[in-house]
Amino acid sequence: MQDLLKKVAKKTEGSEFYNYIPEGYTPGKTKYIIITGSVISGVGKGTFSSCLGSMLRLFNSYEIVPLKFECYVNYDSGTLNPFRHGEVFVLDDGTETDLDLGTYERMLNKNLTKSSFVTMGKVFKTIIDKERAGDYLGRDVEFIPHVTGEIKNFARKLALKSKSDIVLIEIGGTVGEIQNSIYLEAMRELAYEEGRENVCFINVTYVLQPNSLGEQKSKAAQLGIKALMSIGIQPDIIVCRSENPITDKIKEKISIYSNVPVSRTIGFHDTRNIYKFPLTLKEKGIDCAIFDILNLKPGQPHSDIKDWKNLLTKIDSPKKQLTIGIAGKYTNVHDSYMSILKALEHTAPYSNASINIKWIETMDIETGKTSVEEAMKDIDGMIVPGGFGKRGAEGKIACIKYLRENNIPYLGLCFGFQMAVIEYARNVCNIQEANSTEIEPDCKDPVIDILPEQKEIEGLGGNMRLGSYPAILTKGSKIFSLYNQEKIDERHRHRYEVNNKYLEILEKNGLIFSGKSPKGSLMEFLELPNHKFFIGTQAHPCFKSKPTSPSPVFHGFIKAALEHSN
Ligand code: GLN
Repeated sequence: MQDLLKKVAKKTEGSEFYNYIPEGYTPGKTKYIIITGSVISGVGKGTFSSCLGSMLRLFNSYEIVPLKFECYVNYDSGTLNPFRHGEVFVLDDGTETDLDLGTYERMLNKNLTKSSFVTMGKVFKTIIDKERAGDYLGRDVEFIPHVTGEIKNFARKLALKSKSDIVLIEIGGTVGEIQNSIYLEAMRELAYEEGRENVCFINVTYVLQPNSLGEQKSKAAQLGIKALMSIGIQPDIIVCRSENPITDKIKEKISIYSNVPVSRTIGFHDTRNIYKFPLTLKEKGIDCAIFDILNLKPGQPHSDIKDWKNLLTKIDSPKKQLTIGIAGKYTNVHDSYMSILKALEHTAPYSNASINIKWIETMDIETGKTSVEEAMKDIDGMIVPGGFGKRGAEGKIACIKYLRENNIPYLGLCFGFQMAVIEYARNVCNIQEANSTEIEPDCKDPVIDILPEQKEIEGLGGNMRLGSYPAILTKGSKIFSLYNQEKIDERHRHRYEVNNKYLEILEKNGLIFSGKSPKGSLMEFLELPNHKFFIGTQAHPCFKSKPTSPSPVFHGFIKAALEHSN
């Protein structure tokens, strides 16, 4: 196998192999688990993959790094509409990704980098850039071996750089579609070159149960798996998702069609509690199957397992239910707010609370269809999340005024922070025409504006403040007491900032900017000292919140909501 890789690594004009094997790469050192989906999209491939990684880490201390191969030709997820594609997740390094990367970070308790997220756009850009630089030695650049070669290169570079034991590769899309076929071909080649004992293929499929028949049908799953086999990929494990537990008959049928033993044809019908799922995977013996296939030994449990089990106990114990309002633009697409929902979900159990979300459509408040009082009825706290554009902004400002005046916990995230500044400027500082230039470009008092240095950056993808930025918290402030440290980092994704021309008047009237950038020029956190909880942040703390180390801001918010409800 070593010889084969040496041969593949040769970049000669005459060779039909095309691979850069990164310098220092040792074949067989890193194992690969490759996860594909069949039958339907949205089958829970990302959830399964992240929980599988979590299981291997928690129970065996294996170092896992995920890699998502995304089918679309956009360079990243930055310009995707959350309506269509769910939340845009942001990594520390500023990469804008699919929400699956958020699931991986939370389940693996790990902060990822851009190397874990590859789109077809990124593959093509890499190739075009190389071609223009004359990197292909006079060859015609072909899907095979060049495109597949670059795809494998992304995987091997991540293996090398991360020093992980296992690279967990999730192939976007569904087997059988044109979009992901080149990724699949690359994975077939990878398995051929690395050796089958170093690569484990898992297919996540779906067993249908049409209402009209009432019984489970495996044909679609069989055909999906056949499609995978027809391109030369033999799955090692098949995971069957279904509405109800799959019957033995169905398992046997799938097994016989796919050459996968019944013991490695595993059914999962319920993943409602994602935090329990790594334990369920262990109970079903997937770890042992993987160790057999990859010739690995079981490891020792990770020290984090205690905290994880503690979280599960908390989730299962009796809780007080809180109603949290979320006033967003995409209230009909909950995936758009995935990280916020997850942060609430995994933070609440630490306060013995569980969360019921009340979605607040602020356009209805603007048009008078719903009154603010009606919308705010029964809520124990409210979040105005990140957002773009003017739709519903006035309704959000009206809600914030109500929460401020009625001493109801408020958490403003990014856009919600900016709306709180506008509300305060208008209703407390009496700056009637205060606004953001995003909402009203020619407004008289732009308390929220684009900074001159941001204006100079061209293009929609370019001029945002993206990724992790530090903030210095004021000692003695509420936010300092939550983080309990002076210098913190949170992730950002926005263009507009508080306009410092208005700082003096805002602060004179009682608004406290309790967190600022290290040079003091960018406002990062605001708070009101005599309010139960009125905190806004220019960042998105939900992106870094992890199940066993929840965001201090969310923790403080939920505690305040609990006190309010009592
Ligand atoms: N639209 C605002 C800005 O660009 C806020 C962005 C956000 O909430 N993520 O600054």
